[in-house]
Amino acid sequence: MANLAIGVDIGGSGIKAAPVDLDTGTLVVPRLRHATPQPATPKAVAAVVGTILREPQFRGIEVAGIGFPAAIKDGHPMTAANIDNSWIGANAAGLLGDAIGREVSMLNDADAAGLAETRFGAGKGVSGEVMMITLGTGIGTGYFVDGQLVPNTELGHIELQGRDAESWAAASVREREKLGWKVWASRVDAYLKALDRLLWLDLIIIGGGVSSSPDRFMPYLKPRCPVVVATMGNDAGIIGAALYAAEHANALPRS
Ligand code: BGC
Repeated sequence: MANLAIGVDIGGSGIKAAPVDLDTGTLVVPRLRHATPQPATPKAVAAVVGTILREPQFRGIEVAGIGFPAAIKDGHPMTAANIDNSWIGANAAGLLGDAIGREVSMLNDADAAGLAETRFGAGKGVSGEVMMITLGTGIGTGYFVDGQLVPNTELGHIELQGRDAESWAAASVREREKLGWKVWASRVDAYLKALDRLLWLDLIIIGGGVSSSPDRFMPYLKPRCPVVVATMGNDAGIIGAALYAAEHANALPRS
């Protein structure tokens, strides 16, 4: 019998979930995806998560983890850069847990992706300081020291060029400002160098939707430390959320 947990990845545009094999770090069946409701209020998002989790592939799996695009403390989002403000301070783990009839463990979405990549993907076996960076609507960071997650780093919000770094270098900015790949990559390169100047990293892993087109931007990234593209693609957030839940199940009261 496989060792399974449910992973859910809540993002600004999509909500994705799948049962995850914890021993292999793979999805047991392809993920389900629904559009994130707009506005993405707690009630509306909980309803969508509930609908997805009623599908038969989740039956009988009790452990569930949820990655969420905010700093998370004890199941409560503390920030809301790309999600409805009403999440701030809400008992998100309780609300989502009620919607799916299970206790849930919650963590930041980039922390989740980094857990998957450091256990099973591009960062497997790497010691020292590893930074997972997700480039999407925003910039997410997952910081690992000798394989241990240091949660909620939120380094997508460091100041760069006098502004919030994610508003200058996230993947969404390339589309919004209609930048060529090379121009955008030079911004990402400046961002990576700024991070490395502060943290002296041993490895940077680049994830997010852009990781499926590495040839367009990876050649332009030249920080001091090695930089590689994520290998688990869009599933990393789901897989990492499930891994986290398996390690933290029962750590939280539901309400
Ligand atoms: C949020 C982070 C999140 C990242 C990627 C940022 O705007 O502040 O918590 O990890 O976007 O979704």
